[in-house]
Amino acid sequence: MMREESELLARVEALLSDAAYAEHPLKDALAQLYAFHCTEKKRLERLVTIADNYQRYLREDEIVARRRYQNTLRRQEKLSRISDGYQQLMREHNQDLQQASTHDALTGLPNRRMIDERLSKLTRRYTLVMLDIDHFKQINDLYGHEAGDRVLVAIAQEIRAALRDCDLCARWGGEEFLLMLANVGLDEARAIVDRLRQRLSALSVTVNQTQLSITASAGLSEFREGEDLLDHTLQRADQALLEAKRTGRNRSCIAA
Ligand code: GH3
Ligand code: MG
Ligand code: MG
Repeated sequence: MMREESELLARVEALLSDAAYAEHPLKDALAQLYAFHCTEKKRLERLVTIADNYQRYLREDEIVARRRYQNTLRRQEKLSRISDGYQQLMREHNQDLQQASTHDALTGLPNRRMIDERLSKLTRRYTLVMLDIDHFKQINDLYGHEAGDRVLVAIAQEIRAALRDCDLCARWGGEEFLLMLANVGLDEARAIVDRLRQRLSALSVTVNQTQLSITASAGLSEFREGEDLLDHTLQRADQALLEAKRTGRNRSCIAA
């Protein structure tokens, strides 16, 4: 209540209760006006309280709604993060599967399946080389299978490093590798293979303070237009490899 109002009301109350004005002709009207004012004032105060409460209610409602909205948003963000992570995992899993089905686990080289796929859509001129490590069984027998594995990994690395990007090397069998040399004839291919064999025989893998060294034999055959690579070109490379083994190993032979 404002000060002027309370002072005015106090004055009116004093006048109304003053015995000197008990018979005053305006007293009734003043008393009625006073009572009317008090009633109106209470009504107004009630209205203000209602309005205030309503405002507060709206505010609280808004806060609750906003909090709920933010919670939902957070949940959705979390879900979409999980879903993204899951999709990424699936993609990686698929890549791993693809890699595992087309590559050798020990050396990381392409495997037979990948070569089969490649061979079926060959467009260039290729010379095939079947390369086999000499007396590899002895390494296993003398130093253990694990040492043999390490030698195979080192050999694969060496072959990969020696070849050009357009060539392909696969682990064909245990200690047998198939090389596909692109756009070279037999003589050039043989020079490449002999350089590679040189590098392989210079390789040394240390096992229990012993330095292991290996040699390799190779058989080469050139892809002939119209022939089936798998059935014929490969067979001829195989025969040439046998010839290299038969005539003393540590050499390369060209298919007849
Ligand atoms: P050759 O000169 O006639 O080729 O003699 P070799 O001993 O190399 O040939 P052979 O075929 O008799 O033996 C191949 C050996 O290679 C036998 C096998 O245990 C070994 N081998 C094949 N795959 C693996 C492998 O993944 N790891 C290891 N450590 N050895 C392997
Ligand atoms: Mg061998
Ligand atoms: Mg072999």
